[in-house]
Amino acid sequence: MKRKNQAQSDNLLPTQAAYSEKAIRDLSTVEFMIRLYCRKKHHSKDGLCEECQELYEYVGQRRKHCPFGDNKTFCSNCKIQCYKPSMKEKIRAVMKYSGPRLLFYNPKLVLAHVRETVKLKRASKKSKRKKAEK
Ligand SMILES: [Zn+2]
Repeated sequence: MKRKNQAQSDNLLPTQAAYSEKAIRDLSTVEFMIRLYCRKKHHSKDGLCEECQELYEYVGQRRKHCPFGDNKTFCSNCKIQCYKPSMKEKIRAVMKYSGPRLLFYNPKLVLAHVRETVKLKRASKKSKRKKAEK
């Protein structure tokens, strides 16, 4: 398998070996967003500030323990929403800030996200309709 964006990630996660290819791909997206946020909001020059580093590690931990494993969707579409409230707030702020900017930096990724969200919404509408028919 080809690995893209190799230059982008400098292995912030200490236990990278425990992650699957998809998990690493997901996390590199998150990392990208946190980096962007941290650079602009916290004016970090290299890497992440302590707070953002903590957030990123937390996200990595949650991802690793996610019961959906590699079948998981983006966390914003996830039903479980396993983040604890303080971290949820933080990641939400990051997504809110970096989400729209990601379109500029990484449009392919955003398209994939939108496509998946639409697909899921359609699927949940369908299942709701089925329930209503009963
Ligand atoms: Zn920061």
